[in-house]
Amino acid sequence: MASETVPHGPHVAVRVPAKVNLFLSVRGIRDDGYHELTTVLQTVGVFDELRASLAGPPGRGQHPAARRHMRLELAHDDIAGLPAASENLAMRAALALARAAGVIDGAPSVREGGPRTVIELDKAIPVAGGMAGGSADAAAALVALNELWGCALPRERLKELGAELGSDVPFCVVGGTALATGRGTSLARVLCRGEFTWLALLDDEPLSTAAVYREWDARCAPSEVEPDAVLQALRACDPEALGAALHNDLEPAAFALRPDLAERKRLLLDAGAFGAVLSGSGPTMLGLAAGPAHAREIAARLSPDIGRTVIATSPAGGPELRRDAGAER
Ligand code: ATP
Repeated sequence: MASETVPHGPHVAVRVPAKVNLFLSVRGIRDDGYHELTTVLQTVGVFDELRASLAGPPGRGQHPAARRHMRLELAHDDIAGLPAASENLAMRAALALARAAGVIDGAPSVREGGPRTVIELDKAIPVAGGMAGGSADAAAALVALNELWGCALPRERLKELGAELGSDVPFCVVGGTALATGRGTSLARVLCRGEFTWLALLDDEPLSTAAVYREWDARCAPSEVEPDAVLQALRACDPEALGAALHNDLEPAAFALRPDLAERKRLLLDAGAFGAVLSGSGPTMLGLAAGPAHAREIAARLSPDIGRTVIATSPAGGPELRRDAGAER
């Protein structure tokens, strides 16, 4: 990571969790082209970290007025599938906030040596893994820069800005557990007592969300399955009941594109998971365990060829902001 190249101006850091869909039903296609969803989302303890710093000439260059002409820079490790600069969701979120809060006048400056905001991204959430890594980074950028730039926009406004960037971003701005409807951006809080433990089978071969939805369009019909059993299991903190209720209408479409994913689900169930479900549009497959020891037992029963696995608990809160003592208000 390029941290040693980042100057020591005021800075903030946000740790942001991934999400899993405990329930996802596709109700049909809307007039605006998005799919109508009913989904239960929960954050899970796999985290990206985003740091943002003000840099540039000391004195006048640090004045808020100088930032109207500032440059935005993004630094991250070279990770397959992770877009650089303007296509990266963290950068797109930064620009959306800058424009909404009037921090930058028009296009960001390209002037060398002037004031800059440097964003550094450390990714642990798999790219295109169905765990909303990009959306989580967008949410982290909104929360971090709202603080660093002193925009003071309320979370509700950040959620609105997030909805323009991606359907999962509003949820990632708040975290916890939520029932989402519409294209996934209308959120209602869900009561979840206690914690759940997951064994996530990571997959290095990304699966495009758009391709999975295209496959759903071609082979699936709108669904009427309801999330009641999932909501009840969350209220009761009953992992066995939750395991039985896990549901994802995108599985037939994802399994048609990647038949090995159906096999991975079966392996998790055979190894003793209470339930197994594709995370979002995949390819990450999740197995639900009684607790960390049970998750380790399940992992030990799987062949080493299964690839990388992660044990994580949910819910994992929301974006967590750490302020540096020198950060401007
Ligand atoms: P979801 O669960 O919301 O469908 P996902 O986990 O399948 O998302 P992401 O990791 O969010 O997938 O990435 C989806 C696409 O977004 C990637 O293919 C990548 O090109 C793009 N992207 C843009 N910015 C980022 C980012 N900061 N991190 C990851 N992907 C990003």
